[in-house]
Amino acid sequence: MEKREQLYEGKAKKVYATDDPNLVIVDYKDDATAFNGAKRGAIAGKGVINNQMTNRLMARMEKAGIPTHFVQELSERETVVKKVSIVPLEVIIRNISAGSFAKRYGVEEGIVFDAPTIEFSYKCDELDDPLLNTSHALALKLATPEEIETIKKYAFAVNDQLKAFWNQCGVTLVDFKLEFGRLADGTVVLADEISPDTCRLWDSKTHEKLDKDRFRRDLGGVEEAYAEVMRRMTEAL
Ligand code: ADP
Ligand code: UDP
Repeated sequence: MEKREQLYEGKAKKVYATDDPNLVIVDYKDDATAFNGAKRGAIAGKGVINNQMTNRLMARMEKAGIPTHFVQELSERETVVKKVSIVPLEVIIRNISAGSFAKRYGVEEGIVFDAPTIEFSYKCDELDDPLLNTSHALALKLATPEEIETIKKYAFAVNDQLKAFWNQCGVTLVDFKLEFGRLADGTVVLADEISPDTCRLWDSKTHEKLDKDRFRRDLGGVEEAYAEVMRRMTEAL
């Protein structure tokens, strides 16, 4: 496997071409942003944790029958993944009220839902990732009806798997964001990452925040929180 030119640099990762047109290498950075790039900083060691955590969780999803882009961890920060064309939807599943849900509907954080919710936003930085529903996504031709059905099915299945796994670690899965992509043959697979950057994770007993909200809200102990969830994951595996 040969690493070739950089294809893209995002807020948290770089993507490189390889000698295989169907594979790319993702390289996780310590850079952290919030509020669509308005707040910037770094979380020391985050890239290593997010890379390793994502790969372990992606491997679990595969075992549970959910296809993913994961191929092989190359180094502390680099992983080979199947190249996809990203479906420009951020798929958000919530088990407990928090963040923009609490703000939008004027409710407190911490309300446990009877059933998980799903929502989509249009992955478009210039527009600030606006919320949209399925008919809007279809009108904008962001995905086909079949793809949306598949994405919903996989997203809820990921929630079941992740909730159960984090529960074993004494961590409550509040909400998270997923991205899906299409392989060259059109197959939809789970892509991007699953990490404390993209999930809200609370200590099950104390409800202490163990995720990027510590950075977003200037709560301190950011590096320690990422290290703590990684430690708990490693112990549980
Ligand atoms: P952003 O673009 O939001 O700043 P990142 O810094 O995480 O995000 O950049 C990684 C980029 O790579 C994202 O745009 C993501 O959608 C994309 N990506 C994730 N997985 C794959 C994949 N398997 N193939 C191609 N692109 C991917
Ligand atoms: N999220 C994400 N990237 C985004 C927006 C949200 O990873 O661009 C994750 C976020 O970490 C949280 C969940 O999606 O776990 C729900 O986020 P919310 O809509 O509450 O938005 P936020 O409060 O982050 O603005």
